Amino acid sequence: MRESGRVTGLVLKELENFIKPGISTMDIDRFVEDTIRKNGMTPSFKGLYGFPASACVSINEEVVHGIPSKKRKLKEGDIVSVDVGSTYKDYVSDAARTYPVGKIDPEAQRLIDVTRDSFFEGLKFCKVGYRLSDISHAIQMRAEGEGYGVIRDFVGHGVGRDMHEEPQIPNYGAPGRGPRLAKGMVFAIEPMITQGDYEVETLLNNWTVVTLDGKLSAHYENTVVITDGEPELLTL
Ligand code: MG
Repeated sequence: MRESGRVTGLVLKELENFIKPGISTMDIDRFVEDTIRKNGMTPSFKGLYGFPASACVSINEEVVHGIPSKKRKLKEGDIVSVDVGSTYKDYVSDAARTYPVGKIDPEAQRLIDVTRDSFFEGLKFCKVGYRLSDISHAIQMRAEGEGYGVIRDFVGHGVGRDMHEEPQIPNYGAPGRGPRLAKGMVFAIEPMITQGDYEVETLLNNWTVVTLDGKLSAHYENTVVITDGEPELLTL
């Protein structure tokens, strides 16, 4: 999983320079797939539940599961979320980032920053002795404290031989509930945060999830290992 995570993290790092106005969401998908395969791994999302591409690429009000397309071009001022998984020797890693496209509105940048910060707030509770929902609660408090909405319909999850394993890890909820964290557990923790309400709908393509109010949404995710000390981030 460390090896897998290293490549997923590398792909997301390299996308920082790749993403610019004028490229298509399919260009991002090609870049992601090529980079994963060059490193001797396979893109975990391709074919997962029938998903047709290697990366989920979601622009602006799209929350998750955007399908790459040659026709969807990035424009200056957009924000774009890219979710990537790599599989190595049957082990999976999962991570996501939201990127600015060219120069963006300061409010859009603040959404990206707070989404990332809320992940790290949750990470403080990724330690033996806490319970699962302590992570959820910390993420919610940080994001809502900044006036943002926390997506309810999509959540973090265990990850290992499969992309989506038990337990589910909501980004909201009361603290002190759920399993006690133990050394060796591996989670994909992934706040999805909006400028507005948390209500979403799925487009007619049956994949792309958008905010109902049309406001921007950002995503930040890493694969995290619980150790007997500080948590280990496999994808950063
Ligand atoms: Mg995930």
